[in-house]
Amino acid sequence: MFGSAAPQADAEVISVAYQIFEYLQISDLKLHINSIGCPGCRKNYHAALKEYFEGYRGELCPTCLERLDKNPMRILDCKSPVCKKIAEGSPVILDYLCDECAEHFEGVKKFLGAMGIEFSVDPRIVRGLDYYTRTVFEFVSDSIGAQGTVCGGGRYDGLVEELGGPKTPALGFGMGTGRLKMLMKAQGIELPEDNECDLYIAPMDESALLKAMEIVSDLRSGGIHAQTDVVGRSLKAQMKYADKIGARYTAVLGSNELEEGTVNVKNMKTGRITAIPVEELGEKFITLSLNDAVGEIGDAEDSAALINTLFGKKE
Ligand SMILES: [Zn+2]
Ligand SMILES: [Zn+2]
Repeated sequence: MFGSAAPQADAEVISVAYQIFEYLQISDLKLHINSIGCPGCRKNYHAALKEYFEGYRGELCPTCLERLDKNPMRILDCKSPVCKKIAEGSPVILDYLCDECAEHFEGVKKFLGAMGIEFSVDPRIVRGLDYYTRTVFEFVSDSIGAQGTVCGGGRYDGLVEELGGPKTPALGFGMGTGRLKMLMKAQGIELPEDNECDLYIAPMDESALLKAMEIVSDLRSGGIHAQTDVVGRSLKAQMKYADKIGARYTAVLGSNELEEGTVNVKNMKTGRITAIPVEELGEKFITLSLNDAVGEIGDAEDSAALINTLFGKKE
């Protein structure tokens, strides 16, 4: 998200990630947030950190020794058990926020609360990258080993300018699909198979395929889930495939159909066949499927059932 420095934008971006997890029905995720302030308040914090870690010069890992001079905040991210242990007692950024940054962070918490998103403040989150400012957050799970971060992000108001652009506040997050998959597997969550197909057109030869490609493209523009053969299957294999993906209608397109200009569209549920002019398949198919749907309902007054049938929602 670009262009907003307001704390509600932070809550909004966090809520996007939150809703993805909610949609996927992933449980046990915990949201940790922190503010790492602006360059102004971070200066004081750096000084305090440096002073603290100087006392452990002899124990820090070689990487952290370098960080000590360049950017002591990065030491808080070190995976070495020794550095981790030392970092536990270090000063926390929240005690060094300037008034504006403290107010911004209060705002983020307030808006998250309003959106019903639970969180805990973890002053140890700093994120590894230097361009972060103010809000940082992580979604953490215990399902994939110790404290696996599934999603992390925050505000990086200095990034656009650092890359040569105009001064622009910005926010965002990253989510590892590998970790997400591990997490879903650990929780026994399966993604629903997306194989909805309104009409499968089975071409019998090359010229029919050409026409079929044209028709499915038209149908898709009209919001119809149409498919044809992109593998080079035999007609028999195509019909098997159409059955497998649960195509609601099928149509076989061959040289006869192209010559006569009509194609038989079969309702796979009722077996009823309707001849439709090839050139009008796009609009006529919509009418056909709507009529069939209404017919299936009969004179029932159940509008929910009607809507389910019209839009192919599974019970
Ligand atoms: Zn500040
Ligand atoms: Zn270290």
